[in-house]
Amino acid sequence: MMKRWSQLSLTAKVLIGMVAGLLMGLLFRNLFTGHPLIEDYLINGLFHMTGQIFLTVLKMIVVPLVFTSIVCGTCSLKDITILGRLGGMTLALYLLTTAIAISLAMSVALLIGPGKGANLESAANFVAGEAPSLVDVLIGMFPSNPISAMASGNTLQIIVFSILFGIAIAAAGKPAQPLVKLFSALNEAMLKLVTLIMNLAPYGVMGLMGKLFYSIDLSAIFSLVEYFFVVLGVLILQVLITYCGLLKLLTGLNPRIFLKKMRDAFMFAFSTASSNATIPVTLETVTRRMGACNQVSSFTVPLGSTINMDGTAIMQGVATVFIAQAFGIHLAFNDYMMVIVTATLASIGTAGVPGVGLVMLAMVLQQVGLPLEGIALIMGVDRLLDMVRTAVNITGDSAVTCIVAKQQGGLNTDIYNDIHAGEREEHIDFHKINIGEQDRPVTNH
Ligand code: ASP
Repeated sequence: MMKRWSQLSLTAKVLIGMVAGLLMGLLFRNLFTGHPLIEDYLINGLFHMTGQIFLTVLKMIVVPLVFTSIVCGTCSLKDITILGRLGGMTLALYLLTTAIAISLAMSVALLIGPGKGANLESAANFVAGEAPSLVDVLIGMFPSNPISAMASGNTLQIIVFSILFGIAIAAAGKPAQPLVKLFSALNEAMLKLVTLIMNLAPYGVMGLMGKLFYSIDLSAIFSLVEYFFVVLGVLILQVLITYCGLLKLLTGLNPRIFLKKMRDAFMFAFSTASSNATIPVTLETVTRRMGACNQVSSFTVPLGSTINMDGTAIMQGVATVFIAQAFGIHLAFNDYMMVIVTATLASIGTAGVPGVGLVMLAMVLQQVGLPLEGIALIMGVDRLLDMVRTAVNITGDSAVTCIVAKQQGGLNTDIYNDIHAGEREEHIDFHKINIGEQDRPVTNH
């Protein structure tokens, strides 16, 4: 049995961990709710601990990984002006996919009408936070102190600093060559660290799922069944139509291979509900599995995890229509246009951590004068939808990465088409790590 477990692929192990956690969570909740042994030692003890340790070590590598891989990618660019083209194309595709996502979401929601007949009345007792102005957002992208940006995990500021630093290394030429080597070595080590941490994934994912499904209120789904399935349906449509369609149309790459290779990242995003925590896995997937070059992916993936939230925009689109219908408020064509614009901006402003999409929904609702207590209405099913929409968010980042890389001549199609590419690197043989073998002579005789 042990042998068979070690021979399984990481994907299979994570899947087993996920299903085992889910089933155990549901089982214990039905058979032993409140049992002190189960609740204190297993759910809030073992499951909580393994889940949190896994999540923490994933987050631990995000900042150093983003920093080293962007510096590494930028300083090895032969022509720095490529950065401008790359940036423009990435931003345009991120905006396009988000606008498609929200339009699709509202069209399907209007067609199905998930909130019709609820006849709710507003008591207007919610207050939305103020949206920051565009000027503030732009100013906020530049760090006054890169160390503090890293300490607080401000991804946009880290991206800006890393790009500038990488350009400076390239511009300094020969004297800075040791830095090019250093960052490339650091990047290799960081990627190995990701592989190392991935070995914890099956247990971490089991802990996260076990604890979540022990405590989640699934009954909310029954009262919101239409809303839940409309969001879920549109999320699936976005992956199958928008991403696969754009991939085929703009690059000719096979979307089936893309979906197959996304499985690991998909599962991580699903169990952590955080695009940010999934950055290491997304980066590994697009570079090692799909063959996108580091110069493109090191820039598009962290940026996408911060500003490209198509799944979140879909939830916001369906939620807006749902809330309008539930409260019997008529929205005009102009209002819908306004929702497209605000939800696109709101999803850009949504941080890649669990649950923020729902908070940002307040901004969209306020813009078209919908009652903010509508948020409380859909809160019950949001955690589950958050998991799925996070998976869609990072799938969008990966699809755009492949498109940009292919358009810029930075995608190795042999790697992309090789179904097993990158799988071997999953495994680290600890028996073969001989620390300092070459340069440390035997001294004990
Ligand atoms: N959890 C989502 C993410 O990390 C954001 C959200 O929609 O709440 O991508």
